[in-house]
Amino acid sequence: MAQNSGDGKGGGIDSAIHIVDEAVRVEKFFPMTNAAASEKIYRLDGLEMLQVEDQAETEGLSIIGVMHSHTHTTAYPSPTDVADAARFDPFGTMHFIIVSLKHPEPQLRSYRIRSGKIFEEEVRLC
Ligand SMILES: [Zn+2]
Repeated sequence: MAQNSGDGKGGGIDSAIHIVDEAVRVEKFFPMTNAAASEKIYRLDGLEMLQVEDQAETEGLSIIGVMHSHTHTTAYPSPTDVADAARFDPFGTMHFIIVSLKHPEPQLRSYRIRSGKIFEEEVRLC
């Protein structure tokens, strides 16, 4: 069943999805504990996330994304990553950066994930 976007134009929920290509600059990285204590999955601790958000706000920054690594697979969102994104970021506003350590040279890629769909975005390292 399609869901009306409510904008009077009709159409399904997909028609309401629009990724705006806007350049963002990452100013700072806040390392966090993997609360899952696993090499295969990661989980952010809610209290630690609040502390990081407070620290960022104090510094005049906004949290715009989450980065994690794939130690043995490519830098592409896994089904678990897509499911987690739906819970963590239901409106698809965050940038999900994945670093793959599968090959000798690390590979870094970034994605937006909305309604279960994966959109890769360009990353420039400066
Ligand atoms: Zn992943």
